[in-house]
Amino acid sequence: MSATFDDLENLTVQFVERARAATNSGEIALVETELRSKSGPFAALQRSVGQLNPEERGPAGAALQAARASVEAAISESRERVSVIERAQQLDADRLVLGDVPMGGTFPATVGHVSAVARTQDELEDVFVAMGFTVADGPEIETDWYNFEALNIPPAHPARGMWDTLYLEVGEPETVLLRTHTSPVQVRLMQDAVASGTLPIHAVMPGRCFRRDTPDARHLMAFHQIEGLVIDRGITFADLAGVIDAFTKAYFGPDMSSRLRPAFFPFTEPSAEFEITCAICRGAGCRTCSHTGWIELGGCGMVDPAVLAAVGINPEEYSGFAFGFGIDRCAQMRHQIPDMRALIDNDDRFLRQF
Ligand SMILES: [Zn+2]
Repeated sequence: MSATFDDLENLTVQFVERARAATNSGEIALVETELRSKSGPFAALQRSVGQLNPEERGPAGAALQAARASVEAAISESRERVSVIERAQQLDADRLVLGDVPMGGTFPATVGHVSAVARTQDELEDVFVAMGFTVADGPEIETDWYNFEALNIPPAHPARGMWDTLYLEVGEPETVLLRTHTSPVQVRLMQDAVASGTLPIHAVMPGRCFRRDTPDARHLMAFHQIEGLVIDRGITFADLAGVIDAFTKAYFGPDMSSRLRPAFFPFTEPSAEFEITCAICRGAGCRTCSHTGWIELGGCGMVDPAVLAAVGINPEEYSGFAFGFGIDRCAQMRHQIPDMRALIDNDDRFLRQF
């Protein structure tokens, strides 16, 4: 029995060397299995401890335990070393080499483009510039005075109900809001022209406007508008009607017409809504135009003398007209888009059409 224990040192050395010599995890697992196996040499030694003299059992058990521990340490060291090697081999095997990948497919890159609304705005600006208008710009955050008061809409005026306004700051020193229309740019233009002595004005002002509205098929909370302003000597309502019609034909097509219908706006007098030939049925009558052959596009009118006076223009000397309509609405009609919300939904399949 003790002869077997004499072999413990050799046995241990043998196992440790096998573990250290292992070049893959399979070989290590084999050494480990043998170390722990109930039919293996270490288990046999364990069983023989019980047959030793009582005084020999303690040292024999301790020696066996130490032997196992050194084999296990060798196994664990070996496992770390081998895992590094195997990981490197795996990475090497997984590496993609140019030429390994079939190059037969095509990989199309999608190129972005200008949105339908921005493009419509560009086209509208081009039409008006060709008609002799300049393009003006102004802030989207405005004071109550520019957005309402200067336009003949004092506080508590019932006409304020026409605009569901988004207020940023109410009261002192000023009420600040998101502009509900591009009309404040008209006020600024008139002030600048008076200050610099550069009347007359022939300008259009495109831009983003905001209303506290529930978006639906025909309305957005943030929308785009283009307004026009002409201030000169001897301007009449006929000039307004002429400009509207010239624009309609230039933008929508020579076979399209426009007509004006009486309306009310606080800053123009007289005021009108303008309608153009229904783009879908070309005037024949269809469901979209309620079988009238006409579609409402925007509002217009002669600038109210009170508005001119508010910015220091003499209404006895100058007169003018203003008009405005939605750019999104224009894009909707031109491209016959049923729901305006599609313009801001960021659905690439929809937007790619334009
Ligand atoms: Zn129609």
